[in-house]
Amino acid sequence: MTAQKNGWARPAVDRLPKYLAGKPISEVERELGITDIIKMGSNENPLGPSPRALAAMAAAAAETNLYPDPAHFLLKSALAESLGVSVDYLVPGPGSTALIRVLAETCLRPGDEVVFPAATFPMYSLAARLMSGREVPVPLDNAGRHDLDAMAAAITPKTRLVFLCNPNNPTGETFSRAELDAFLEKVPAKTLVVLDEAYREYAVGDPEYPDGVSYLKAGRRMLVLRTFSKAFGLAGLRVGYAIAPPDIAAAMRAVRDPFAVSVPAQAAAVAALADHDYMRKVVELSAAGLVQLTVAAGEMGLRTYRSAANFVAMEIGEQAGQVAQRLLQKGIIVRPIAGFGLPGWIRVTTGTPEQNERFGQALKAVMAEARSL
Ligand SMILES: *Cc1c(COP(=O)(O)O)cnc(C)c1O
Repeated sequence: MTAQKNGWARPAVDRLPKYLAGKPISEVERELGITDIIKMGSNENPLGPSPRALAAMAAAAAETNLYPDPAHFLLKSALAESLGVSVDYLVPGPGSTALIRVLAETCLRPGDEVVFPAATFPMYSLAARLMSGREVPVPLDNAGRHDLDAMAAAITPKTRLVFLCNPNNPTGETFSRAELDAFLEKVPAKTLVVLDEAYREYAVGDPEYPDGVSYLKAGRRMLVLRTFSKAFGLAGLRVGYAIAPPDIAAAMRAVRDPFAVSVPAQAAAVAALADHDYMRKVVELSAAGLVQLTVAAGEMGLRTYRSAANFVAMEIGEQAGQVAQRLLQKGIIVRPIAGFGLPGWIRVTTGTPEQNERFGQALKAVMAEARSL
């Protein structure tokens, strides 16, 4: 799907694909006239924000007549402390999605190549296209994992950026430290590897799961993206950050909006970072949810990928769009992921045990209907 050409916008803008975001609950209520809706479509956290983050943003609300601290001093200090890097490495932004765009604006020249896996998060190709870069999608392997050998082979002297997503959205699959090491050996110095770790908190229990920041500490030039939107439960507040060598970070900060992260968002992120009990609960709940959702899909004979994140992709077949629509009518928002490069699949976010159960029951009913059509 392309935006309508009107000749006024830059040609790259006319070529942008339309990003179909997960539907908000209020829209479904309005369109279908139903209530009691659960959202399992956008990988949000079903526990709500941490109580500490809520208290911090409420306190900060009284200061929203003032612009936020453009240095993001308290947030960067808290992150630097928790990550063990200097504040020079940090670029906070209003969500890591915004920082993907800032990165593209900072470094891409027209025609520069951008390598990324397919299927993955659509924002990498969108940012490349916006800056008139050349998109180089590299198919996942049959298990839904990054084909790192093929990705390395796709790098040319014109490749400016390579995006890796670990765990990968929408398959949830991961690659190991050893696999990443072998890949990085093959990447030329001119090419910047971007490691998107939006779901890392769900995956760190695996001892083979690589820590992007440890590569930066070892002196490697790459860029790591993290967010408060998923395990930290602050998707609606819009806070994420990039971690990169100081020269790259400084260039991105120069491009970014100086007041990138709002007053309540800076305060809440600092508080959320310190709430380890909340994080433990979030990760445990999601792990149990993954089992519940995967078992439900298995009982219906649906193929799934082995996810280390807070969602699982299920292969529905040709009727994936209709099945998602029928689920919507039953008050359950899931995500058809054709736009991510997986036609015939849906992606379901882990919910509370009750939500997962309700999804499983609804999917059984809807699949029975679909099969009898
Ligand atoms: C959700 C997500 C993000 C984070 O988005 P924010 O803009 O920080 O909310 C980044 N990358 C991937 C792969 C994601 O799925």
